[in-house]
Amino acid sequence: MGADGRKEMTAMQEALEALRDEIEAACAGTGRSREEVTLIAVSKTFPAAAIREAHELGLRDFGENRVQELTAKAEDLRDLEFRWHLIGPLQTNKVRAILPHLGLLHSLDRIDLAREISRRAVRPIEALIQVNTTAEKSKSGVEPEGLAALLDALEGIPSLTVRGLMTIGPLGGDERSVRTAFATLRSLREREQARRPELDLAALSMGMSGDFAWAIAEGATHLRIGSRIFGRR
Ligand SMILES: *Cc1c(COP(=O)(O)O)cnc(C)c1O
Repeated sequence: MGADGRKEMTAMQEALEALRDEIEAACAGTGRSREEVTLIAVSKTFPAAAIREAHELGLRDFGENRVQELTAKAEDLRDLEFRWHLIGPLQTNKVRAILPHLGLLHSLDRIDLAREISRRAVRPIEALIQVNTTAEKSKSGVEPEGLAALLDALEGIPSLTVRGLMTIGPLGGDERSVRTAFATLRSLREREQARRPELDLAALSMGMSGDFAWAIAEGATHLRIGSRIFGRR
């Protein structure tokens, strides 16, 4: 108890409370419903105990960018119920290891990966196609020009369902360049949804600790937030 008789908040509790307020304000400010936006806590480099604490604070979606780190933590956290998101690149030879844990894959970017997932899956797997909206050479993801062809190639691949698109904004970019990247993802989604009305491409995974408010303004449905919850890496 603190001197005023109230229970003192942990650093994570304080961080999460402030973050939730900002997400709510960003939704309210842009006419979005808070229920449309899923907060994914990106726990990379932090131990399983940190996930446990975040779970106690009500979080039920966790993201990792490396298969080995995710599977090790999953082992530690078998007693908890939550959804794993793989947000980093996935090598074909790691598909088998990740599949039992996978809730949503954010980094589908090529047909051979889709085929391997389909071949190994024992239940339906959901994925987002990662799009490189900033033309940065270092970034993975399909180029915008290749998106339609990839979606078409995925047709008829069993046990794999695409739910939408994912992108990473320009790192350290200003508001204009970040929002341009997010708006690009949204318009690609709208274009592909119109072209392929039988698909459900509702999800837009975009927005991190530094740019989530702009992502909400541009239509994000999944925020991937690490340092604002867990602290600096
Ligand atoms: C690390 C990471 C995040 C979270 O980054 P923060 O700036 O800590 O919020 C989001 N998306 C991807 C793909 C990441 O690798």
